[in-house]
Amino acid sequence: MAAVETRECETEGCNSEAKLQCPTCIKLGIQGSYFCSQECFKGSWSTHKLLHKKTKDVVKNCVEDDTNTDPWPGYRYTGKLRPFYPLTPKRPVPGNILRPDYADHPMGMSESEQSMKGTSQIKTLPDDEIESMRTVCKLAREVLDIAAIMVKPGVTTEEIDEAVHLACTERNCYPSPLNYYNFPKSCCTSVNEVICHGIPDRRELQEGDILNVDITVFYNGYHGDLNETFFVGEVEEGVKRLVQTTYECLMQAIDAVKPGVRYRELGNIIQKHAQASGFSVVRSYCGHGIHKLFHTAPNVPHYAKNKAVGVMKPGHVFTIEPMICEGGWQDETWPDGWTAVTRDGKRSAQFEHTLLVTETGCDILTRRLEDNGRAHFLSFM
Ligand SMILES: [Zn+2]
Ligand SMILES: [Zn+2]
Repeated sequence: MAAVETRECETEGCNSEAKLQCPTCIKLGIQGSYFCSQECFKGSWSTHKLLHKKTKDVVKNCVEDDTNTDPWPGYRYTGKLRPFYPLTPKRPVPGNILRPDYADHPMGMSESEQSMKGTSQIKTLPDDEIESMRTVCKLAREVLDIAAIMVKPGVTTEEIDEAVHLACTERNCYPSPLNYYNFPKSCCTSVNEVICHGIPDRRELQEGDILNVDITVFYNGYHGDLNETFFVGEVEEGVKRLVQTTYECLMQAIDAVKPGVRYRELGNIIQKHAQASGFSVVRSYCGHGIHKLFHTAPNVPHYAKNKAVGVMKPGHVFTIEPMICEGGWQDETWPDGWTAVTRDGKRSAQFEHTLLVTETGCDILTRRLEDNGRAHFLSFM
């Protein structure tokens, strides 16, 4: 997953940064509804709940009609993709599996992340924690490889999510996206114009689609995060070029990682390569530090001339996850509060690795162990 821009609290007169989204609004597909705290949420409840009532009738019709694919009448989609509701119920995780703090929070809030909010201090991991990161990243890679072999026309992203969930629990991993700020599923599946954070649903993949699957797993107290974009059957040449370029952007940025390099430099490398191919770089979602926390310092923008804070040091662990677009870089979010799409409805691709800075460069902790470490799509080029 990518680090998300923050919003302002809905409560009148409160301008605090707000990451909590009303869980009922998420279920009903109401856009916005961010609050800074439980207190503000409770304080706004008497007026806020009227919004739920208004929307419920519309959603009720949708849920009763199994074939209805548009839960948000009136929303103007930017491209051809539509959600396929209703979503299936939240999947349980066996009780013996260690859970992150947000797993049981009513709004999916991570107290441990909130307590570090605003700090740009980057943690240097000691050897034992680095070992834990190696282990969890290897498990995350195994789960992504299972998702990869499922990608073909006719398969739903819901089915991929089910397989991902099972692959996680079989490995005694908690699927990190599940209930993270109330995200409803165990992985993100982003089709065509979806930039990131797409929610697995009952839409069947179609020949010519591209699909990004973003996997994060939590094991022994640590998160490991990676994603790849896959071809669904045969795709157009231009689309292949987009996916290839996005992968090259990630790998060129990784090549630059070593002690002493500024985090802000990575965006220059990525944008230079994307632009040379006529593509643009998403600005609203960034790479992030990751270890005991899912998203933490450093913040790693993928665009040029960014103001990211921090210099790489051995023991830092973070992600690079460029999102590259065929058309413009501007994004907007579906009424589900998660699905980020391109404003112009053109396609977007993404690749992500979790990296450890070493004395001489970096280790790709989420690297593929088969096929010389190459991303899956390269077998279809
Ligand atoms: Zn990520
Ligand atoms: Zn991710």
